[in-house]
Amino acid sequence: MERGGAKMLHLDVMDGHFVPNLTIGPPVVESIRKATRSHLDVHLMIENPDRYAADFVRAGANSVSVHYEAARHLDGTLGVIRNAGAMAGVVLNPATPVSVLEDVLEVADYVLLMSVNPGFGGQQLIPYVLQKVRKLERMRREKKLRLPIEIDGGVHMNNLAEVVRAGCDWIVTGSAIFHSADAEATVREMRSVAAGATAIQI
Ligand code: ZN
Repeated sequence: MERGGAKMLHLDVMDGHFVPNLTIGPPVVESIRKATRSHLDVHLMIENPDRYAADFVRAGANSVSVHYEAARHLDGTLGVIRNAGAMAGVVLNPATPVSVLEDVLEVADYVLLMSVNPGFGGQQLIPYVLQKVRKLERMRREKKLRLPIEIDGGVHMNNLAEVVRAGCDWIVTGSAIFHSADAEATVREMRSVAAGATAIQI
């Protein structure tokens, strides 16, 4: 993936509570950190992210995002992540409107919009999420903020251009790459499709 030009590695942390699945914790992030110099983007799908977010920065994450739906002290947690030395992101589930970010947008470094219900790979992109991307794009433009919009779930070669044109800057793909015959070639091709979509943005 790095040879294909991937700009970051997105690590999904699931706790078996906030989402049914169970994945990795800080020690695995630490091991991945030793294996690569790439940007490690940690997506916390856990309850009580306020308590654990800084551990992931210490494990080597360059950016850590927490779910709006799970953080009880979102503003404080974003501050903790940033003080620990990483970019601080907010994640919204598909059904959570972007309007909840109205005030917190200025203290976030990026926003991740879930385009599937979090928990498992291999799902289809929920179409109305692109509408949310466009709304968020308008919000950041009106506030003159440069914060990147990240999308996670169901992005494939056939909808990538549309996702980029809607306003997404960071594209997370799992199945599209890992279920392809050649991960390196797929990343390269996706990067070229994304670059082409930006070029014809209106
Ligand atoms: Zn994710």
